[in-house]
Amino acid sequence: MYYISDMCDGCGLCAPDCPMDMICPNGNKFEIGIGCNMCGACGSVCPVGAIKKS
Ligand code: SF4
Ligand code: SF4
Repeated sequence: MYYISDMCDGCGLCAPDCPMDMICPNGNKFEIGIGCNMCGACGSVCPVGAIKKS
């Protein structure tokens, strides 16, 4: 399961890299929706390492 931790600063860089369009803003941070297919494309994009896999 991929998720975005509290380290997210809301830059939005990761959102366009999701082929499922599952990364969306929620307040001043971003979150991953339930349609994530675990492809992992977002994992290396975040400049602060906020995207995690559990
Ligand atoms: S793992 Fe893939 S489908 Fe899931 S949020 Fe990241 S880029 Fe999107
Ligand atoms: S790239 Fe990282 S810091 Fe930027 S919105 Fe995505 S998870 Fe948050």
